[in-house]
Amino acid sequence: MDAETMLYGVIGFPARHSLSPAMHNAAFREAGINAVYLAFEVPPERLEMAIDGVRGLGIGGLNVTMPHKEAVINHLDGLSEEAEEIGSVNTVVNDGELVGYNTDGLGARRALETVTGLRGRNVLVIGAGGAGRAIVYELSKTSNVVVLNRTPERAKALERFGAVGEALTEENLRRYTSWADIIINATPVGMNSSETPVPPDLLREGLVVMDIVYKPLRTRLLREAEGRGCTTVDGLWMLVYQGVESFRLWTGKSVDPELMRGAALEGLRESG
Ligand code: NAP
Repeated sequence: MDAETMLYGVIGFPARHSLSPAMHNAAFREAGINAVYLAFEVPPERLEMAIDGVRGLGIGGLNVTMPHKEAVINHLDGLSEEAEEIGSVNTVVNDGELVGYNTDGLGARRALETVTGLRGRNVLVIGAGGAGRAIVYELSKTSNVVVLNRTPERAKALERFGAVGEALTEENLRRYTSWADIIINATPVGMNSSETPVPPDLLREGLVVMDIVYKPLRTRLLREAEGRGCTTVDGLWMLVYQGVESFRLWTGKSVDPELMRGAALEGLRESG
């Protein structure tokens, strides 16, 4: 680090558990870029000050995580098309003006594309929160998407992207798992717990199952899916690919996803 070092970071509350510093610092090192990436714990009442600080200090860019992904929009100068449509920002680029992007949907697409094609496929997304919205927006461009959500109005609202939105009920789960080629859990169900959003008897050989939860890495959903002959994709792949896309927006450079995944896995092991 010297007088030329650029600063990047993630803001969240909490932010200390974030795997993004490990991923992006590994990428900066590998690319030979003189930059460092830190985690900033920003409570909601300090969001505005934090963004003023980004402008004042010339911080190169940010990732934005819970609970700021929507609130940050009011403090930016512009939005990319997908951030505007989704109403949520996970990446800010500072080119003199602060522009918000959302790379979560593309992260999910790239993660899925490591194991399957998506064009014309039937995709069931469970969850219509921030991450679910980004995924439904992105995948609806190429796939037939049904989204089921505990609060049905939030699923219905995603019909504007061309998806079908319905309530998360036992009957709908049964109906749409048998229709789907690909199932995505976009709820926190299974995070640090032994719960699953999909009863195992609904899983069948040939399905692709992705869980966006990555703590634990092998959630109960993924273990049961694997046991039934499904192809599985863990949530760390989505995290890695959204990070690859953020890195590209900041630096114009591509980074090897395996490098970021290795760094994230190490961070995950260290955090227990
Ligand atoms: P969010 O905006 O709070 O949305 C949560 C969603 O999950 C809502 O649709 C909510 O339904 C649903 N939900 C919550 N508890 C539920 C339960 N017990 N049963 C059924 N549905 C439930 O959160 P988010 O930002 O979308 O994040 C969701 C999860 O994804 C988190 O665990 C987060 O860590 C993870 N995530 C992972 C990545 C990655 O890169 N792998 C990226 C972003 C997020 P209601 O609308 O009814 O409340």
